[in-house]
Amino acid sequence: MSRRIDLHTHSAVSDGTDTPSELMRAAVAAELDVIALTDHDTTAGWQEAADALPAPLTLVPGAELSCVSDDGDGRQISVHLLAYQFDPSSAALVAEQQRLRTERRTRLRLMADRMAADGLPIDPDALFAGLADDAPAGRPHLARALVEAGQVADVNEAFERYLGNGRGYYLPRTDTPVEKAVDMIASAGGVTVLAHPWAYSRGPTVNAEVIEGLAACGLAGVEVDHPNHDSETRQRLRGLAAELGLLATGSSDYHGANKSISLGAELTDPEVFEELTARATGAPLVAGQPA
Ligand SMILES: [Zn+2]
Ligand SMILES: [Zn+2]
Repeated sequence: MSRRIDLHTHSAVSDGTDTPSELMRAAVAAELDVIALTDHDTTAGWQEAADALPAPLTLVPGAELSCVSDDGDGRQISVHLLAYQFDPSSAALVAEQQRLRTERRTRLRLMADRMAADGLPIDPDALFAGLADDAPAGRPHLARALVEAGQVADVNEAFERYLGNGRGYYLPRTDTPVEKAVDMIASAGGVTVLAHPWAYSRGPTVNAEVIEGLAACGLAGVEVDHPNHDSETRQRLRGLAAELGLLATGSSDYHGANKSISLGAELTDPEVFEELTARATGAPLVAGQPA
């Protein structure tokens, strides 16, 4: 039987529901041979996943980076970049993470100040006093403060009324430009794959010229088999990948109980995986230990 390889999953370290160790056990239960852990903008789950890794599972350390890109039509849109086997201590990566942390705190402060100025029950100083130095600052902090103050019933209502995109207190983030992210991960010894490039249901997407440009910057692949791609989209994307010499991967984008997709629902061809991992030098694959 050919190896079952799922290259895109989230743990509770970002917005999944399984802890990294639960996720590794679930991967064995789902009869996976290889799993990539790709939490949003963090490598914080790598160690726990590696420590909990059962044989015969292989772990690909990774992350899904939030980036911005031109959509090919002059609009700036949000895109996700899967990054595998990079060295998280590389200087370029550490510097960019520091910039993002600072930028996110500045943005949160601005949103909090505006809400307080409008008489909403937000105390910006108290909010920041309760925020750990290395905590990723974002809208959920404001949402929870609004819930605690009784202003809204839950976090969803806070986003619907105040914080969601286009709502009164929403401010955009300045994420990493995707070309810069591709370059940064390459300099950290990693490889990159553009996540769900044409998942139209998720919002605006980049066109084929943008993907061609990224291929020229060193992008290794595109995620073709993804739950948000229909069969016609997969076919077009597979054709584009072949044309541009990009690898075509497949993954579930598993989020535990937060989404209905199961682990291994989409898989990557073993030969494609071998090519991908052969290009990476930043962080080794981790082999599971017999119990
Ligand atoms: Zn994504
Ligand atoms: Zn994802």
